[in-house]
Amino acid sequence: MDRRTFLMASTSAALASLTHSGSGWALAPPPVPKARVIVVGGGMGGATMAKYMRLWGDEVAVTLVERNPKYVSSIMSSLVLTAQRDLSSLTFGYEALSRRYGVDVVIDDVVAVDPVRTTVKLASGTALSADRIVMAPGIDFDNVPGLEDDSMPHAWTAGLQTTLLARQLKGMRSNGVVVITIPKAPFRCPPGPYERACLIADWLKAEKPRSKLIVLDANPDIVVEKDNFSRAFLGPHAKIVEYLSGVEVTSVDVGAMSLSTSGGLVRGDVINLIPAQRASALAVATGLVSGSDGRFAPVDVLSYASVAAPSIHVIGDSSATTQPKAGHIANQEAKVCADALARLFSGGQPDPSPVTNSACYSTITRTEASWLTAVFQYDAAAKVMTPVAQSFAASDGWTPKYFKEMGKWFDGLMADTFS
Ligand SMILES: Cc1cc2nc3c(=O)[nH]c(=O)nc-3n(C[C@H](O)[C@H](O)[C@H](O)COP(=O)(O)OP(=O)(O)OC[C@H]3O[C@@H](n4cnc5c(N)ncnc54)[C@H](O)[C@@H]3O)c2cc1C
Repeated sequence: MDRRTFLMASTSAALASLTHSGSGWALAPPPVPKARVIVVGGGMGGATMAKYMRLWGDEVAVTLVERNPKYVSSIMSSLVLTAQRDLSSLTFGYEALSRRYGVDVVIDDVVAVDPVRTTVKLASGTALSADRIVMAPGIDFDNVPGLEDDSMPHAWTAGLQTTLLARQLKGMRSNGVVVITIPKAPFRCPPGPYERACLIADWLKAEKPRSKLIVLDANPDIVVEKDNFSRAFLGPHAKIVEYLSGVEVTSVDVGAMSLSTSGGLVRGDVINLIPAQRASALAVATGLVSGSDGRFAPVDVLSYASVAAPSIHVIGDSSATTQPKAGHIANQEAKVCADALARLFSGGQPDPSPVTNSACYSTITRTEASWLTAVFQYDAAAKVMTPVAQSFAASDGWTPKYFKEMGKWFDGLMADTFS
């Protein structure tokens, strides 16, 4: 379109929105939205949800409520511990969501959700209502007896704790002992603690000679990508890593920097204590969390509607599904949910056979990575997402090429979520 045609087109569009009122010409009121959606939490699940709901939901008004003005990605945050990244390279804003897609972004804390009236209450006192509420508030951590301060940071939600753990590692003496604890599954990013262990082990070799890394895993075995991680622990990292499975932390003594565990007392100079995880307290308070372990929110994976409250949808790490708790999966769940709501608002039904996929790279050294991938398909009989047999694959080992691909995969995922 040349400039003249563009100007004519935009002028006719402007004229079309003018209407005659009794006292003269006035701008027509904006169209009444077909439906209203509130998204709680602007992380990997919530930001994708808000964007795609606007893209696919014709005339759907979307309000995204997020407590922080910027999102700091947990994905890639272990590289901050080895000084290969800084948090600013993992920080994303909400400008594109509001400017490009028309999402109404509200920076505030959601303090209550009413699943019957479909309203949310914000810390500022504002109340918002909608036809549907999509909750993507991520995870909360179990309390660990004795842990009253940040002396043993989890750094499992990126931010201040990540910086603190990086500082503790940097300040540790040579010949020191680092401890990483892994909670019982399910937890956020199944390969995450093992890849962090590999990365830190590689860093210790270069930066803190004669140091040791003890990995205390509450699970009976490495929970994912066992071939690669056990080869790494027994191969390049054998002199540094001591991996112990079936060891649970029962309490801590921050003064003595020690852990009481099911396997005895363990002391460390730096302790990366990753507690057991559950759905955000807001999901619990809203009555969405149930099931045998009572930790996450069961959903109908055709639309991510909560089984406890059908007008509330739960995506990302707070939901209980058969898919891993991962940013890539949160992004996929958001798209399935946005598609389902777009169809419902138009009088249709959710897609009866959704497919999601997950790709994940794990750092095995500071310059090499492995990968893991899976495709999940809806199983109508069991009403769950099941992995497609041939799609469950992992790389045979780790290479610098996969490390480079990891950076590209991350850039693509974050652009799809926030740009
Ligand atoms: C070290 C590490 C490495 C990882 N690596 C990978 C990886 O390689 N690949 C991968 O796919 N995944 C990875 N993950 C997992 C990934 O980060 C999470 O699975 C993903 O962030 C989950 O998305 P979410 O939307 O559920 O939660 P989040 O991304 O945590 O977003 C939740 C948002 O909700 C907001 N919020 C919470 N409560 C409220 C409230 N009451 N009011 C307003 N806002 C609220 C929070 O501020 C936050 O912005 C990794 C995680 C870690 C810790």
